[in-house]
Amino acid sequence: MGERIGFIGLGIMGRPMAMHLVEAGYEVTVWNRTQAKAAPLVDAGARRAASPKDAAARSEITITMVADTPDVRQVILGPDGVIEGVRSGSIVVDMSTIAPVATREIAAALADRGAAMLDAPVSGGEKGAIDGTLSIMVGGDAKTFERVLPVFQKLGKNIVHLGGHGAGQVTKACNQLVLSLTILGVAEAFALASRAGVDPAKVRSALLGGFAQSRVLELHGQRMLDRNFEPGFRTRLYHKDMGIVTEAGRALGVPLLGAGLAAQLYQVAMSHGFGELDYSVLARVVSEMGPAAR
Ligand code: NAP
Repeated sequence: MGERIGFIGLGIMGRPMAMHLVEAGYEVTVWNRTQAKAAPLVDAGARRAASPKDAAARSEITITMVADTPDVRQVILGPDGVIEGVRSGSIVVDMSTIAPVATREIAAALADRGAAMLDAPVSGGEKGAIDGTLSIMVGGDAKTFERVLPVFQKLGKNIVHLGGHGAGQVTKACNQLVLSLTILGVAEAFALASRAGVDPAKVRSALLGGFAQSRVLELHGQRMLDRNFEPGFRTRLYHKDMGIVTEAGRALGVPLLGAGLAAQLYQVAMSHGFGELDYSVLARVVSEMGPAAR
């Protein structure tokens, strides 16, 4: 079916995303640094690549879904990287969340080899990846976007082309900014309710019917109540995203007071050793800053 797809990075997000493409009938070639994680995909019919270079050489569209900016640089520009395998006319789609400036540099390097690039970070979390309902925020050339759109439609529902290279990553930074302050608001509301002797679970139910309603209150609020901080979205990745947000504000001269506060609270979470826990662990950081439980 259609174009051949390379998929690099089979973590919490990448694995279910690649699986959707296999199930949709695409010829998919996968690569993951820790090879064992590729096994379920190979069992489902994907081919196993020897390197990112190999995955790109066997594909018209190569998707990367790794952790951070240096990791994307590594798998695309590093030794045995995607750039060594791409052919003229092929497309590289980076769906990781990374710095917009780095995206533009990588796009320029790929353009020198005749390959196009899209930045296409996502929102919707592990659940969105499993359900195929991600929001996908795309930057890059419009014609390239149109060519990849059928692939995006297997992964997500709200797919928006926002402009040139980096526009998707800027939009994702805006997403993380809003999300961090919403999470903080829910965490503080629950801490206040608990201290006042009102059941936070009932507060959540009440708030879900009014203007304070949100998916964060619904999903992360429930995690906070259950004290279930299994990832989900790892705190160390969220900490990385808040660095992207605050750095973008600094570079552009835009004061981001709320984002700065949330970024510092994620720094506290990291200092407490919560990096591998879900980012809703901010509830624990907030409650531990307050008075001891009565
Ligand atoms: P994850 O579970 O930690 O997986 C990260 C993946 O990247 C793994 O496959 C890992 O390989 C690979 N990787 C990391 N560094 C690498 C390197 N230097 N070279 C090669 N491979 C490398 O992370 P995730 O939750 O799937 O997140 C992936 C991206 O999506 C991140 O940019 C994140 O910010 C973004 N995102 C995540 C969520 C979420 O809810 N989880 C939501 C939206 C966006 P190994 O298996 O070998 O470690």
